Amino acid sequence: MSEPILPPIGMLAELTHRCPLQCPYCSNPLELLKANRELDTQTWLDLFSQAADLGVLQVHLSGGEPTLRRDLEQLIAGLSARGVYTNLITAGVGIAEGRIEAFAEAGLDHLQLSFQGARPATTDRIGNHQGSHEKKLETARRARAAGLPLTINAPVHRHNIQEVPEYIDLALSLGAERIEIANVQYAGWALTNRDRLMPDLAAVNRQADIVAAARERLAGIMDIDFVTPDYFAIYPKPCMGGWARDAFMVAPDGIVLPCHAAQTIPSLRFERFGERRLAEIWTDSPAFNAFRGTDWMQEPCRSCERREVDWGGCRCQAMAIAGDAAATDPACVKSPIHKYMAILTDAAQEEAASEGNESFIFRRIGATIRPSTRA
Ligand code: SF4
Ligand code: SF4
Repeated sequence: MSEPILPPIGMLAELTHRCPLQCPYCSNPLELLKANRELDTQTWLDLFSQAADLGVLQVHLSGGEPTLRRDLEQLIAGLSARGVYTNLITAGVGIAEGRIEAFAEAGLDHLQLSFQGARPATTDRIGNHQGSHEKKLETARRARAAGLPLTINAPVHRHNIQEVPEYIDLALSLGAERIEIANVQYAGWALTNRDRLMPDLAAVNRQADIVAAARERLAGIMDIDFVTPDYFAIYPKPCMGGWARDAFMVAPDGIVLPCHAAQTIPSLRFERFGERRLAEIWTDSPAFNAFRGTDWMQEPCRSCERREVDWGGCRCQAMAIAGDAAATDPACVKSPIHKYMAILTDAAQEEAASEGNESFIFRRIGATIRPSTRA
């Protein structure tokens, strides 16, 4: 039986796809939108106001690099005036003098800063931007001086998984309250670069032990969030807390989506803010209702005791690997093609041995896409 549709509590606003960095695991779509496709200030403010009316309590301001929007102070102030908690997710490169203080003054509640590595050479190489590590350190210092709580984002893959202990030390030294150690999710650019990014099982296990020990050591000092890698998992994660359940995201051009990679599901059509009110899109959009709740599930999810724990996992991963968005996420041990995940991880190791580290397809408009060698 269908359950009632509850209001969302979170929203991810991708204000722009522009970014000075070119991370090969970026979750943005392969077809990046240019600045002339972005919503204007007033439309974002209208959207935020409708989101607050709908019940949204927190908005994550992201991109691309959201600080490239000259109106970011205005957008933060608009959300703050509605009592919405604001979290700025930034790469922390090239933020003009005085702006972080202006964000804080406008009401920003929290800043989340990504480091592509714990070592300067790794950060600069993975983001393909010389000097970026130094600039990020400066951004962290300015954020703390402005009184903003700080989270360090550590996206982990084969080329920096050995830096996890240094990441933890870095976050501590910067006065962060939290570090998010997140194994890369293979969607968007990360799917294209999957064979070049996938770590091996020994490194994944070592990482898990390091995180467990650090959590114990730093209890009450710094929180450590840990996003485990799907390809080595037994059960999938509840992607976005379940499709169209707690949260949604909005692309720079106003397309409202249940998750980052939803547009990779070809059978779905997503609506643009302005064509309809946000509340109508959330409640009535066929794309939002396609995988909401449990009615859409096939076996083995349909009769599984975990169906309201992980909500069948990630629809986009099912699409990418099983070729069917309604299939059980192949990350689940009960999926008939779960074993294929192990084949993919082995194949990635072989490719790593033959290709070396220098073959990333960096995220940029017009990059020549050579997909990961396997589906
Ligand atoms: S993942 Fe890297 S390239 Fe993508 S938006 Fe973040 S900093 Fe920019
Ligand atoms: S069968 Fe479906 S609901 Fe059950 S654990 Fe696997 S993905 Fe989750």
